[in-house]
Amino acid sequence: MPANSFTTALAADNFCNRNPATVAYSALMVLSLVHPFRRARRPHAIQADSRDKARRLPARLVTGHEPAVRSALMGRGRIRSGLAETWGRKLTPSEDFTWRTVLERFASDGRPASVQEIAERIGVPDDEARTLLADLRSHDLLGLDESATTITYAYPFANTPTEHRVQLYRRLVHAMCAIDALGIAGMLGTNTRIESCCRACGGRIEVRTTPNGKALGHYRPAEAFVWYDFAYAQAAAASCCPAIAFFCSNEHLEQWLLAQSRKRVGSRLTLIEGLELSRALFEPVLAMTSLR
Ligand SMILES: [Zn+2]
Repeated sequence: MPANSFTTALAADNFCNRNPATVAYSALMVLSLVHPFRRARRPHAIQADSRDKARRLPARLVTGHEPAVRSALMGRGRIRSGLAETWGRKLTPSEDFTWRTVLERFASDGRPASVQEIAERIGVPDDEARTLLADLRSHDLLGLDESATTITYAYPFANTPTEHRVQLYRRLVHAMCAIDALGIAGMLGTNTRIESCCRACGGRIEVRTTPNGKALGHYRPAEAFVWYDFAYAQAAAASCCPAIAFFCSNEHLEQWLLAQSRKRVGSRLTLIEGLELSRALFEPVLAMTSLR
């Protein structure tokens, strides 16, 4: 559905006015956690670039941040069993190019590209493009439908409505989780406007990023928090993403945590800390693309 003010309002109604506990959140996640470290270069890429440096982390990424952000980055790595195996494998140059192409098209078109469009863009037959997309799915970088022919998400972007709506290049896109929503601006080097809702009470959350995703602009409520969940199993979209959400206050975050059927493990972050975490995760992803 093309994004316009009607669909924006519709999405807001769909997600903010329901009992949060009943909302069927599509997959969400925090892709990039380790993505920067395992990126492979395109054969013709100019080097000594930020992505190459980023791959030498996580030490560099973990240091130099606010304590809460460092704690979130380190805690995620300690607790998410299986994440290192899935995201630690380096991408081949073809996989890397395909992944970047998927994200660029998602950002520019507001929807995922078709297999045929990707094949044409990267210069391979359709079957090879399909194989590359399946490879990226095995890295938990994107999701495919049952026939493996349609991209259902590519962190940070979701192809179905979620509670995290992001105005990007005059389009509406949906993010997989709260950190993904915050990270889109840094990944693309542009300003965004995020509309989401408190997971506990459904209250409206609004966040503007500026300039170029490096800082917060106006946001409300001023006491808003992000819960950065550490759960991980097979795919972030089905494990941690659904629990990485905005809250209108620390009190509402606490209420939500207490109401969970099992104890959640993660980090509570202010919006400023959440943006810092999202920048650490997403800025290196498209550091060399024409979109920045
Ligand atoms: Zn609330």
